[in-house]
Amino acid sequence: MQASDPQFMFRFDRPRESQGRMMHDIYSALSQRRSIFINAPTGVGKTDASISSCLKYAMENGKQVFFLTPKNSQHRIAVEVLCGLRKKFGLGITYVDMVGKRNMCVNPDVNMREGEAFYMSCEKLIKGAGCRFYENSKEAQKPQEELYEAAMAGHNALFRESFDEGVCAYEISARIARESNFIIADYAHVLNPVVMKSFMRKIGHAMSDSVVIWDEAHNIMNTASSYMNMSLTANAIKRAQAELASIQHPMDLGYLLYMLDSLSESKIRGSAMGEAFVENSDIPQEVSADADKLCGQLDKAAMEYINNKGAKRSALMHISRFIRLLSSHSDSDVIIVSRQPMGIRLSISCLYPAAALAGIREAYANVFMSGTMLPIEMHKQMLGFKDALHASYPSPFPRDNRLCLLDRGVSTKYSQRTAMQYKAIADRIGAVRDNVHGNVAVFFPSFGVLNATRRHMRYPVKFAQAADMRSYQTEQMIREFKAGEDNLLFAVMGGSLSEGIDYANNVIKGIIIVGIPLERPNLELRAKIDYFDRKFNGKGNEYAYLVPGVVKAAQAAGRAIRGETDRAFILFMDMRYAWSAYKCIISDFMAIDETQDYLSKISGFMKAERASARAARSMQIE
Ligand code: SF4
Repeated sequence: MQASDPQFMFRFDRPRESQGRMMHDIYSALSQRRSIFINAPTGVGKTDASISSCLKYAMENGKQVFFLTPKNSQHRIAVEVLCGLRKKFGLGITYVDMVGKRNMCVNPDVNMREGEAFYMSCEKLIKGAGCRFYENSKEAQKPQEELYEAAMAGHNALFRESFDEGVCAYEISARIARESNFIIADYAHVLNPVVMKSFMRKIGHAMSDSVVIWDEAHNIMNTASSYMNMSLTANAIKRAQAELASIQHPMDLGYLLYMLDSLSESKIRGSAMGEAFVENSDIPQEVSADADKLCGQLDKAAMEYINNKGAKRSALMHISRFIRLLSSHSDSDVIIVSRQPMGIRLSISCLYPAAALAGIREAYANVFMSGTMLPIEMHKQMLGFKDALHASYPSPFPRDNRLCLLDRGVSTKYSQRTAMQYKAIADRIGAVRDNVHGNVAVFFPSFGVLNATRRHMRYPVKFAQAADMRSYQTEQMIREFKAGEDNLLFAVMGGSLSEGIDYANNVIKGIIIVGIPLERPNLELRAKIDYFDRKFNGKGNEYAYLVPGVVKAAQAAGRAIRGETDRAFILFMDMRYAWSAYKCIISDFMAIDETQDYLSKISGFMKAERASARAARSMQIE
């Protein structure tokens, strides 16, 4: 890519070499009004680079910038970059950090309500002039200076300031967003087609005038699909019936239970898989004929239940949302009925989020960036940006700080999941543990494999993630794990302990990746593979099955090296990493040494690690 020579604002002394290149690459793409895919591993400094270049372009060309993240917690770094630029250059820009309305609601009467129950309660209050915070916000035509400052310090600061001022934080943030050059927000604000239009209208911006930076962009497809996935179970219908009874409402939902039973009877009976596709014509008239009217009745009853009983949520509302989705689903969704341990389930699964992706393509230009944006061609094709530019940057950390090895003696292939296999895995983890002094994290493809292996371990595993752990429990556990010097952690890939979390400052000496977190083969996966085969020229198996699994493993493997001085070994434990289909994907991320005697390599690496730590300590003393 040809680089011009624009002068970028940068909050530190000077950008790293690859950071400087990235800024030029992004600026050059925007100058051609083209989107760009950026693959930049941890340490390159992509948040600073993308914000500096996009902000410069936007200010010169009258555009605004959106910085979108999949999680609220990832807003912090963008806020820090903008604060730093503002301070260093005395920039006269306005920016705002926005999260979902529920997380910004200061009204204690409704802000504990969940999901749809919250949104409908808020809407009702606004319509009836029943929210004092909203009414006060209307009076404050222009937010006070303190609110601007709070909005630029982050959504938590704005929440506190708004509460103190007695105004609605969401309304204030939307008003500040109208005059902002830079908006930090969630994926949902743009990826959820229902939210996107009203959000853009409210903040008075148009996608066609916006440069959109997508942080952790490898998540876009899954996140966009998740807004279109929903299921209905017999239990939910029974809960809704109990809600109706509690408010003595005459509505009867027995026909929905009957629908589930008869679908199960006609579609699954005799099928070995316990699940089957459902066609539109299989849905009874009572549900499909006048869905709007039915949903209106369900919503009304739900609000009556919430208000009368002081409930946080309502199963009636869930059913209403499900029926709405069922009546509007597209060709890129499938409906599946399945027999689950908890009863019959009818689910709508989005195979390809076409509507959400169409919204992204309206933007002036997009910057899609991630540390695992590989293979880049796949991401370009899947998001529908075949002609976009792309660039990759090397890791700035010394290569020798990471040793990647392979144990091909075991596998977590479904056909090989036996007690003997789990014992073999446990024995091998134990053998590695015996050779290492320092914290080691072991990542598994599922809780099932984690627990089965744990039962065979020679010594107790104190730090193990569990499926039903609340986030505060996970945080507490990880704090204690990091504080120790010789701890062993068991966690799953694709979870909160293997993605979006840093084990920086050399707290982990080694990572063991057990197996490959591939999706369980089921009807939905089969439908997705077929759909992708048709849409992406026979690439269904690769795009829907192999790559997502291996990328989750690469994400987990990348946890240990987060800084220049971090050193760690990574041991991949599964013979399939040596098979060409998997090897060509993982080799995009790291080169694996396939030597048989990996234990002696780990011992040598640990010895060198201790020697370099001793040297560093003696230099400090001198
Ligand atoms: S208007 Fe604002 S403060 Fe009032 S309920 Fe809605 S989000 Fe909460």
